[in-house]
Formats: sequence, C-alpha cells, structure tokens
Amino acid sequence: MSHAYGPVPSRRFGRSIGVSPIPPKACSYSCVYCQLGRTTDLRIKRASFFPVEDIISDIEKLVSVQGSNTDFITIVGDGEPTLSQDIGKIISFCKQETSIPVAVITNGSLLWHPDVRHDLMNADVVSITLSAGDVETYQRLHRPHRDLDFESVLDGMIIFSKEFRGELWAEVMMVAGINDSESALHSTKNQLDLISPKKIFIATPTRPPAEDWVKPPESDTVLNAASILGGSLEMTFPEIGDFSVVEGQDHVDTILQLCSRHPMMEKQVRDMEGRFEDKVVDNMVLRGLVEWKTYMGVKYLIPVRKKIQRGQNT
Ligand code: SF4
Repeated sequence: MSHAYGPVPSRRFGRSIGVSPIPPKACSYSCVYCQLGRTTDLRIKRASFFPVEDIISDIEKLVSVQGSNTDFITIVGDGEPTLSQDIGKIISFCKQETSIPVAVITNGSLLWHPDVRHDLMNADVVSITLSAGDVETYQRLHRPHRDLDFESVLDGMIIFSKEFRGELWAEVMMVAGINDSESALHSTKNQLDLISPKKIFIATPTRPPAEDWVKPPESDTVLNAASILGGSLEMTFPEIGDFSVVEGQDHVDTILQLCSRHPMMEKQVRDMEGRFEDKVVDNMVLRGLVEWKTYMGVKYLIPVRKKIQRGQNT
C-alpha cells in the first residue's frame, strides 16, 4: 500500500499529491457525516503507524513523476493525520526536498497538544474543522473521544492560530438540524472570529454519511450560512460527475432534487444541462420552479420555495 497518491484535482488545493500517514480509520472523532463510516479506532493517543522511511519514499517516488505538475502536497488520510507522530518529519522532508507547498487537513482536535502544534509549524497551510460553536452541537456532530473537551479543543485552535506563520483555513461542515440554525451559525461565527482563519469553506455532506439520517441543509440555508460566517461555498457534486442520463428520466425532477440538496453554481448547472434537452433550466426558471441567487459574484440555482399559507397543514 502506497502512502502517497495522486495527483488529485481539488478546488481548494488544485492538483495535489495526497499523503496518508495513518491507517483507516484512526480518528479522534466519529462524525455523523463522515464519508468513511463510523470510526473503528477512536483514539487520541498518537503513534508511529508506519515506518516513516516508507512514507517518505512513497512521496519521493510520486514527486519525481508528478512534481512539476503539482500545486500542493496535502497530508490527510482516512482519519485524523495528526495522530501520526511522524507528521512533523514528513512535513520537514517535503519542505526540504521539494518546492511544493505543504497543506495539512486536520479536524484540529489535538491542537491543545504542544507536540502537535510544533509538528505543524512548517506547513504552508493548515485547514481545520470548526463546525460547532457550543459543546452540545460539538458532541452531536463529532462524537469525539471521551477525553476530548470542547473548551480545550477550542483553546488549542486559538493558541495555534496565534503561533502559526502559515495560512490557517477553516472548514464548517453543515448538517441539517444540527448546526444550521441561525443561533448555531452565530455561535460558530463567534468561535471562528477567535481564530481568524484566512479562508473559511462551508461544506455539506455530499457522499453517503456514517449515519443515514444525516442530510445537507437546504440550499438557501447554506447561502445564509455563507453570509453569516463570511465563507466561500465549497460544493462538490459527485452525483453530477457520475450522472448519466437515463432514458425516460424526468430531467426537471432530477434538477430540482439536485439543487434542493446543494446550491448549484451556474457552470455546474450548465454542464449538467448539456446532457438534457435544450433550455430545460431556463424553462424551469420561467415556470417559477427554480431561481438564480447571486452570492459573492457567483450565481447559484436554488428551488423556489412555495410559501405555506397560514392555516394550511397545521
Ligand atoms: S474528523 Fe474527518 S475522518 Fe474523522 S470522523 Fe470526522 S470526518 Fe471522519
């Protein structure tokens, strides 16, 4: 098994080489939305899971083939990469032996640990998860290891944000009914303000989550979150990439379902429309089924919500 793979195209990191220093699925959280399923090795104790020479050798091989065509080396893994005691050595190797920027994608739950903060210091970008502004939401969303304390986790993030000289980014993963209310979003915003990330990405579950009941918020809620949190929307549409038009499939219904689950950027809509009959989306707009909404200069397609008359359904 190679510990380096890619290049992987990504909107955040361009073409990146991924590095996994941990086995699946060692993590300090067992998030309800995790696309890897429930955590099988819930832990906060760090370890050296693989010989670091093997990991470095895999990176070396891939960089020698792909290096000139790579925007980032991202240290990630099927779980929490800072559980690896070797992450500092891996980052140092990449910085010394390549000219490719290094990013670490972490849930940030171990940043209270001075060794973890020290290990990440040489990275160019550290992207953390900050999706909950209060302890109850934190517990429901992440189901953390029992020894993780919400306040300590936040304190660790705040200390790291003051020490780190690279770019700190934050991802807010939104789950309907858990952290998408106005009050929950304002609480999250308050915590984000304490760490002042350079970039904020708002993501929604787009792949099968660990728990069946997990759903992304409605499109307009996500756009509202972006205006409260001040972030940019991170939308991935694996359904569209894999989508093939089936004979007899109702295109209008398909588009309605997709844009109800995620606000769709105009380019994504037009790419998808190319597989359907001409002007299907424009006709839906004319019929009042969907509408365009502009956020930060980008047009998104969202369904038109019919207002429920008072007295109806009550
Ligand atoms: S922190 Fe990441 S890998 Fe761990 S359970 Fe949550 S989503 Fe999955």
